[in-house]
Parts: sequence; C-alpha cells; structure tokens
Amino acid sequence: MPETSAMADLQDVVVVGAGQAGFQAAASLRDNGFAGRISLIGDEPGLPYQRPPLSKAYLTGATDRVALNLRPESFFTQAAIDLRTGQRVMFIDRARKCIRLSNETTLPYDHLVLATGARNRTLDLPGADLDGVLQLRSAGDADALRNRLPDIKRIAIIGAGFIGLELAALASSMGIAVTILEASTRPMSRALSETMSRFFLEAHQATGVRFVFDAVVTRIRDHQGRAIAVDTADGQTHPADLVLVGVGVVPNVELAADAGLAVANGIVVDAHLATADPSISAIGDCAAYPQPFAGGERRRIESVQNAVDHARCLAARLTGKPQPYRAVPWFWSDQGPFKLQIAGLPAPHDHHVVRGDPSSSAFSVFCFRDGRLAGVESVNKAADHMIARRLLSSGAALSPDEAANQTFDLKARATGSLAA
Ligand code: FAD
Ligand code: NAP
Repeated sequence: MPETSAMADLQDVVVVGAGQAGFQAAASLRDNGFAGRISLIGDEPGLPYQRPPLSKAYLTGATDRVALNLRPESFFTQAAIDLRTGQRVMFIDRARKCIRLSNETTLPYDHLVLATGARNRTLDLPGADLDGVLQLRSAGDADALRNRLPDIKRIAIIGAGFIGLELAALASSMGIAVTILEASTRPMSRALSETMSRFFLEAHQATGVRFVFDAVVTRIRDHQGRAIAVDTADGQTHPADLVLVGVGVVPNVELAADAGLAVANGIVVDAHLATADPSISAIGDCAAYPQPFAGGERRRIESVQNAVDHARCLAARLTGKPQPYRAVPWFWSDQGPFKLQIAGLPAPHDHHVVRGDPSSSAFSVFCFRDGRLAGVESVNKAADHMIARRLLSSGAALSPDEAANQTFDLKARATGSLAA
C-alpha cells in the first residue's frame, strides 16, 4: 500500500514531462485541494498541448496551434503551477531528493512524477535521415508535414498503425496517391480483430490507398539528398515525394533507469502507479503497470484516456485518497468518415462476434477471452461503445450469442436491470 500518512506532508511535487499526463497530474492535484508547490517541467517549447489533432484536424488547417493547448497560460498562473517548458530534466538524485535541469538549476521534491511519455521508433536503414523522410509525434513534426502536404503527389507511409492510417485517410482526401508499407499481414494488427482490420483495409482501398503487407523496407532512395522512393526486400521500388515513418513508439525510460528504477518496456510501477521508491511515481505512455483488464499483466497503454486517468488516480493518492488504478481502457481513431472507438483491450482474444452489419459502416465487434468480454471495437456506433464501457466496468456477464443478437438489450445488462 502507498504511504498515505507521509503523503499528507507533501510540500513539493515535481512533474517531469508536460504532456497529457503531466499536465493532468498538476491540474488534478489542485482540483483535489493540494496546496503545496507544483513544478511542471517539459522539454518541448510552448504550453502543454494535446496530440490527437496532430494527425487529424491540425494537418488540414481546421485546428490552429492555440486550439491544441490544453489550457491558456493564465490557467497555470491562477493555479500556481510553476510551468517550465523548453527545459529538460537531466538527472534524478534520489538520495538528495532533487532533480537537475538542462539549465543547471536543481529542484527539490517530496514527490516526483515521471510523465515522460514516449518517442517515435526510428528506422535504421540507408536513407532514413534524408530530406523528405518525416515522422509525427510533436507539433513541430506536424508543422513540417503540414507545410509539405500541399505540394506532393505521392506519399509512402511506413507502418499501417494509427498514425499511418489516419494520415492515409487525410492524404487521400487531398488527392495524394498513398502507398502503405506494413511489416505485418493486416492494418492495426496489434490492436484490432481481423474483422475490424479487414473493414478498415477495404475502406482505405476504396479511396485508392495501396497496401503492401509483409513489407521489409530496405532503403529509401534519394535524388540530390531528397527522398524519392522506398525499396522493399521483394525487389519492388515504391516512388514517393514524401515518406512518413509511423512504426510505433518507445517509452522514455532513460531518466528512471539512470536513477536505478526498474524498467521493462516502460517504468515499472505497481497498481497505485508507484515505483519501488515511495517518492517517485510514473504515469501515462511511459508507465508499465498491472493492467486489470489484462488479468493483471504488466502493460503500457498509449492513449489519452490512460494518461488522464493515471494522472487522476495518482493525484487522488497524493492527496490522501488512494485507490488502485482500474479505469476501463478506451480510445478512438478518426479515419476519413469512420470513427473507430475501442473499449477494453480486445487483443488478444480467442473469439469475436459482429453486432450489426459491416456493409452499413456502423457496427461493432465484441471480442472474448476465456469466455469473458475483453473488448469492443465500434465503427460509427457511439452508443455501442458507451454501453461496452459500462459492461466492462461493471463486469456484467455477456455471452457471444447475446452480443451478436441485435434485439438483445445490452444497456439493460450493463445497468444490471437484466440479469445474466
Ligand atoms: P506525451 O504526450 O508524450 O508527453 C510526455 C512529455 O514529456 C513530452 O512532451 C516529452 O517531450 C516530455 N519529456 C520526456 N522526457 C523529458 C525530460 N527528461 N524532461 C522534460 N520533459 C521530458 N491517443 C488517443 O487516445 N486518441 C487519439 O486519437 C490519439 N491520437 C494521437 C495522434 C498522434 C499524432 C500522436 C503522436 C498520439 C496520439 N494519441 C492518441 C496518443 C496520445 O497522444 C498519447 O497516448 C498521450 O499523449 C500520452 O501522454 P503522456 O503525457 O504520457 O506522453
Ligand atoms: P502503432 O499503432 O504501434 O503502429 C505501428 C505499425 O507499424 C504496426 O502495424 C507495426 O507492425 C508497423 N511496423 C513496425 N515496424 C515496421 C517496419 N520496419 N516496417 C513496416 N511496418 C512496421 O504506432 P504508430 O501508428 O506509429 O503510432 C505511434 C503512437 O501514436 C502510438 O502510441 C499510437 O497509439 C499513437 N497514435 C494514436 C492514435 C489514436 O489512438 N487514434 C492516432 C495516432 C497515433 P507490427 O505491429 O507488426 O510491429
């Protein structure tokens, strides 16, 4: 159990990383009445901002930089949050309970929150650093992409994950020819059922997107230093004016590892998001924690919901109301006219059923593991998604037959008015 008595004496909370999780931790501490000092330190310039629009409305110009900000500057002043951006935390001195910043200042902490997020995985192959080879994680990355998109005719996207597919939908809507090179056999294969993968594959193909699966990218070709094509191991050359690499992320764990904290695909924390050092916690994309919806297996989840709910859970503990983390995972992805929403953790599953008709482009896939509902994937079916979250949160029993039967009242089961 976390040491709740000592928590009451906290004066200085330092949050490393001013992204979705770090911002929320600072804000929720104040919401919960924490009156001590809060320092929020981020190495990116500007105010803390949200990333989801970067692969969606921000690229089209429908959202501007100010609209990305999680709060205006006045919020941090009024909440007495000492926001220090453009500064990197270089070192944690656990013995002295202080951190050192890139500008050589040191800051003491009673409690340190690591919200360092993740960074994009890079490709180690010839041409990966050419002009015209881009990635997408930060607002700066999105600016570079936004500037180039209007002038290109062909884009090669490496990786059919969430970044790759959201960008494919956007680029093809701008009349750009899209080729996606994916290492596995289907899109979003790690996160989604085969049925849902197939739906999105066909939906993107219908807009002209070309997919190459089992792709082993070997080289990016250039002309005068600028990317012009991607080679794959099967001898094919895929011409492109721009190459976007979206092959997943790695968690930012180095600060924690250098301080002697355990890391294993993420900073290792317990069910209260505490590291083995009672004065240090980790939240958001960087934290590997026992995930109740994966049978307590240690997982790292990369989503806004996870970042926000981790932060709220931690803020509650630091203000004397500890609860183990058990929020239902959920997230969304917008790809052209399709809103994909996922509740729970559908992968891996041993059985899935479809509710509704995929040809109507509004349906859900209910995924089961060991006879229990593990997760629900919905397309343009917000009501199913909301009910799925309630079903998963209440732990109500549901059989595959009930899920597939459109006349079965899911809501009544979720709210407990219809017994199993
Ligand atoms: P981050 O947002 O990565 O923030 C961590 C911050 O810490 C970064 O600013 C980093 O630079 C900083 N940092 C790291 N080390 C240090 C250090 N030593 N000193 C100071 N600062 C440091 N999720 C969804 O649920 N739905 C979506 O539609 C969606 N769309 C996305 C679109 C894009 C383009 C991207 C990139 C992500 C998207 N996500 C989406 C994922 C979601 O944005 C992340 O899961 C979320 O941002 C994680 O928050 P975080 O605070 O843990 O990490
Ligand atoms: P991702 O969803 O993990 O997908 C990466 C894809 O690239 C996977 O399909 C992966 O296949 C493939 N891949 C890996 N190495 C490859 C290689 N060498 N060649 C070709 N394909 C390769 O990651 P992402 O799309 O890059 O997104 C990055 C982060 O942004 C994630 O945290 C993601 O959650 C977040 N994001 C989220 C959303 C959303 O939730 N709507 C939107 C955009 C971004 P394997 O699985 O076989 O490795």
